[in-house]
Amino acid sequence: MIRRNIFSQGDEQFRLEVAAFLDGEIAPRYASWVEAGRVPREAWRKAGDAGLLCRTAPRSHGGRAASFLESVVIAEELGKRRFSGFLTFLQSDIVAPYFVRLATDEQKAAFLPGLCSGEKVGAIAMTEPRSGSEVAQMRTTISKADGTFVLNGHKTHISNGFTADVVLVAGRTDATAPDGDARLSLLIVETGQKGVKRSPIAKSGMQALDTCELIFQDCEVPKTRLLGAEGQGLLYLFTFLGLERLMLAIYAQASAIAILRELILFCHGRKTSTGTILDHQTTYSRLADLYSDCCVNQAFIDTCIVEQMQGRHDPRSSSIAKLRASEVLKSIALLAIQFRGAQGISGETGERATQDMIDSCVQSIWGGASEVLRDAIGKSLVNCV
Ligand SMILES: Cc1cc2nc3c(=O)[nH]c(=O)nc-3n(C[C@H](O)[C@H](O)[C@H](O)COP(=O)(O)OP(=O)(O)OC[C@H]3O[C@@H](n4cnc5c(N)ncnc54)[C@H](O)[C@@H]3O)c2cc1C
Repeated sequence: MIRRNIFSQGDEQFRLEVAAFLDGEIAPRYASWVEAGRVPREAWRKAGDAGLLCRTAPRSHGGRAASFLESVVIAEELGKRRFSGFLTFLQSDIVAPYFVRLATDEQKAAFLPGLCSGEKVGAIAMTEPRSGSEVAQMRTTISKADGTFVLNGHKTHISNGFTADVVLVAGRTDATAPDGDARLSLLIVETGQKGVKRSPIAKSGMQALDTCELIFQDCEVPKTRLLGAEGQGLLYLFTFLGLERLMLAIYAQASAIAILRELILFCHGRKTSTGTILDHQTTYSRLADLYSDCCVNQAFIDTCIVEQMQGRHDPRSSSIAKLRASEVLKSIALLAIQFRGAQGISGETGERATQDMIDSCVQSIWGGASEVLRDAIGKSLVNCV
């Protein structure tokens, strides 16, 4: 792969530590989590003890004030191993930043230390059965009664939702606002409270990832649990979606490179009467295309990472990064079945290859489906010429 110059020696040392933790603590247990459909709480605590959660959060709230590059390293090492159930970056780089940037001191003190230590698991709930891509059309309502908010609604496909202690829930504070002009707000909801029902969703992709339905029925949330300003929820979601998409791009890219590398080695090792499968022009030219795509994507993602660190983050670039990385990943995962022949769908190798294929489809759906990203990028084209 291309030479990358964004990491320091310290980051590379940290990469070795992350790899050792994942290979030593996670890999031996991962198959049982696939079976269970979720990661046990103990694993979150261990990740917290190892300092792998919310590293960029301030020290005053349990984090390590680390560089964003350390978040990148963790996401890459997870992606390389395709540990799709144990998406620590969901907690560290998708949920925690809402607290760091928007929460009051009291809210930070109540939740951030637990998210950093792994004592608490966090989730974010936007998607509803009838509004996934169309975030602004959500139907969950947040009404006001004496001193509290009352939450009613149905969220679906919420990652870590069944395990989560705390969920950031988006809902409409102004139920009379016309669709598309939703006055959304964000609430910090503790899942142990009355009015919260949860049920796991059985799924064929990302099998170890806890994915859950959340139903809120007259769920009373103290007014002190409003995150940020009332009515600004949509602005917050779209602002933070940029970082979410960049993290998903980083994860997808690392998975793509790992699957491609394994495939090249397979093709090189699979003998034919005249050499190996890799000697066929139809094989190597296709692999060359995908390798080139990976190189170009990596350079683009690294540019986005640097811009994120410099606070010059551009949400459209994150959309491009996620679109490209997840679509190339999908092409590689499909070819990883095709070029293995029957082995691509049988035995242990086939099981891995077909799981990679299904998981890669998830990656071009979650955090904004590819078509939605194309739509958003396409509509902004007139401003970039
Ligand atoms: C494993 C997993 C984990 C998830 N985790 C979370 C989470 O933690 N929190 C959360 O809130 N959500 C989560 N989601 C939900 C995810 O963000 C949504 O699935 C995604 O946004 C798509 O919404 P949808 O499934 O409702 O599809 P729909 O909105 O019904 O779209 C279906 C398809 O229609 C097409 N389409 C839709 N809109 C357009 C458009 N404008 N232009 C062109 N084509 C379009 C696309 O092909 C799209 O895939 C998760 C999903 C999965 C699969």
